[in-house]
Amino acid sequence: MKTSTALALAATFAAALGLGTAAQAGPAKPRWSLAIHGGAGTMSREAMTSEKEAEYRAALDRALAAGTAVLERGGSAMDAVEAAVVMMEDDPRFNAGRGAVFAWDGANELDAAIMDGRTRAAGAVTGVTRTRNPVRLARAVMADGRHVFLSGAGADQFSREKGLEQADPAWFATPERRRQLDEMKAKQLSAIDVDRKFGTVGAVALDVSGHVAAATSTGGMTGKRWGRIGDAPVIGAGTYADDRACAVSATGSGEYFIRAGVAHEICARLRLRKESAQKAADAVIAEVGALGGDGGVIVVTPRGEAVFAQNTPGMYRARATSAGLRQVAIFRGE
Ligand code: ASP
Repeated sequence: MKTSTALALAATFAAALGLGTAAQAGPAKPRWSLAIHGGAGTMSREAMTSEKEAEYRAALDRALAAGTAVLERGGSAMDAVEAAVVMMEDDPRFNAGRGAVFAWDGANELDAAIMDGRTRAAGAVTGVTRTRNPVRLARAVMADGRHVFLSGAGADQFSREKGLEQADPAWFATPERRRQLDEMKAKQLSAIDVDRKFGTVGAVALDVSGHVAAATSTGGMTGKRWGRIGDAPVIGAGTYADDRACAVSATGSGEYFIRAGVAHEICARLRLRKESAQKAADAVIAEVGALGGDGGVIVVTPRGEAVFAQNTPGMYRARATSAGLRQVAIFRGE
């Protein structure tokens, strides 16, 4: 019997038994995945009230819903990561956009990046003070295409020229973040001492066309000085996307994430060593830890995996896939 005839007979037999096969069900269902984070940190169940925990879970759920709505209707991974990050930039609970941490001199200086795995086109901004949604500015840099990374006053000027929504610096400043800076100065504490988390936000997505994208947005670290730039807007450190491998967004002590080239390193391990997303992410976060850094990553692959890795007790995070997975988590081991 010819193979094709045998397969047809087997399919008929399976159908008679009610065992559907992918071939009978028509083309495979389009697959999408999304993972988001709202920062890693030392938050623990003991240190968090149930009200605060519920608030954060709801906030993550809203950002996840904004991204999944795009993917479910067949929208692009780029649009999905932007939608999820914009939602968290506007939420004062997270260290991005409104609610960003204060730099030493008392300003909110914002960093963001976005990358399209389809073309490896990318856009990034650092030290911006006037754009309501820095991730949109990063995307405008990418769309413009002449440059990848803009800083400070020039980035703010580009933002105005592109007609992006502007915000008064007071929009970003919250009393709680001001208090954290004041406490840091008064008691000579570190950024992680005055808050329990880093709080950067990020999203990675796979769309139904098989493309991945990553976006990250942050105020950086409380009390940052001298024009300090963290990993979030550095392509390959805090943000990277490549259809041949994965999309990554990071949160944590940015200096170490830059030194380890975290986001690119994870993608390189997937592409060259064919490691699973979880194995690669765990290995690179262990490397960050060995250097002395703390934090975590979210990773999505073109195969639809959506994974987290962290070396901190907590990371605000959530994921959803077309296969029906939907999870919001804060503490390690959830
Ligand atoms: N990675 C960010 C930075 O170093 C901080 C964060 O994750 O909140 O700027």
